[in-house]
Formats: sequence, structure tokens, C-alpha cells
Amino acid sequence: MARKKVKKAAPAKKEKKAVKKSGLVTAYLGLGSNVGDREEFVEQAVFLLEKNPSIQVTKRSTNYETEPEGGSEQPKFINAAVEIRTKLSPQKLLDFCQEIEAALGRERELEWGPRTMDLDILLYDDLIYSDDTLQVPHALMHERLFVLKPLKEIAPRLIHPVLEKTIEAIYDERKAEHGETYDDELPGFKEIKGASLDDFERW
Ligand code: ATP
Ligand code: CA
Ligand code: CA
Repeated sequence: MARKKVKKAAPAKKEKKAVKKSGLVTAYLGLGSNVGDREEFVEQAVFLLEKNPSIQVTKRSTNYETEPEGGSEQPKFINAAVEIRTKLSPQKLLDFCQEIEAALGRERELEWGPRTMDLDILLYDDLIYSDDTLQVPHALMHERLFVLKPLKEIAPRLIHPVLEKTIEAIYDERKAEHGETYDDELPGFKEIKGASLDDFERW
């Protein structure tokens, strides 16, 4: 869906618009865990999202095992992405994501350090918003293959409202930068079978 370049509305205005008449907005969350039973933490986070009456989990990616970025010595991550429909405002959704992180025992010691659960808001409808506690789209999502790969699996044609490109196009650009133009398998990525949509659809 090609869109013309139009001047962006002021963030406050956009935020109001984002909650549609139905009261439901589609948003995308990124999940990451690299401590303990990582797949179980991802499972629990999706379960807790789904348990919230104001959130419905509508799509879920495969789990991927990924190498930690940033050069620090820490265990590999399990990364995944989900699509949700929600009545929650962006700030309330962030609060709830942080409640889930706390419930799963996350301790905030090191920036980018090991964590039982990291739950980030990647996109919230086509909202462009930034304040001291929240930036949407997530500031680094377009640079990170560990975010883009699972997101591309569930929303390839979704348009990043700032870059005005599809997730697939952004993913392909990043992949090319890593020298992997043709092969869909990326170094440092391993698909983890058995925790994908099939499991999810049984709920
Ligand atoms: P990164 O932001 O690089 O992925 P991180 O996830 O490790 O780093 P955290 O310690 O989990 O960083 O979060 C730091 C703060 O980022 C949070 O307290 C939150 O207020 C803020 N934040 C800003 N935008 C977002 C967003 N889109 N989703 C989640 N947190 C966000
Ligand atoms: Ca993060
Ligand atoms: Ca985070």
C-alpha cells in the first residue's frame, strides 16, 4: 500500500485518533528473554497479555534464538513478536508490559543486560509519539534483525509510519547490510520449533 508523503499531524492529535471508533487498536509487541527457561517466559508473557480483558493476542511469531547484540558477554536470547488488538492507550499498554516484566521477575540492573522478559511496544496503529517514557514506533526496531525477523513473519506488509516502508522492505535492507541478500537464514538465528501459531491456536 503506497502512501503519499503527507505532513505528520502533531503527536497529541495522532494519539487521540489512534483509538478508533471500535475502541480497538492493532499494536505489535516485541518479546525477548535470555535468563532461565526463556521459552517458558515467552509463553507466560503471551499468556498474561491474553488474560487481560482489554487485550486480544491475534498473531504470534515463531520463537527465534538470537545472539545478543552490543558486544556484551551474555546468554543468547529467545525473541518473538505478537500482534494484539487492544483498548488500552499507549501509556497504559506500556504500564501493562512493565507489569508483566515485573511479574516474570525482571530486575533492572544493567542497561541491555540479561533479562527474564523484555516486552517492548514496537508499533501502535500508525501512531508517531514520543515523551520521556515512551517512543512509538520503538526507536531501534528498524535497526534490529532480532525484532524485524519475527515481526516480518506476522506483518510483512505493515508500514512503518516514520520510514514509510513495509516491515519486509526494512528487514531486507538490514539483511543486505549483513551481507545476506539471498539466503533467508541469518547467522546467529535459530528457529525454535514447537512454540508457534499451532500452540497458540489451541488456546
Ligand atoms: P531498548 O529500548 O534499546 O530495547 P531495553 O528494552 O533494554 O532497551 P528497558 O530497560 O526495557 O530498555 O526500558 C527502558 C525504558 O524505555 C522503559 O522504562 C520505557 O519507559 C522506555 N520506552 C520508551 N519507548 C518504549 C517502547 N516503545 N516500548 C517499551 N519501552 C519503551
Ligand atoms: Ca528492548
Ligand atoms: Ca524494554
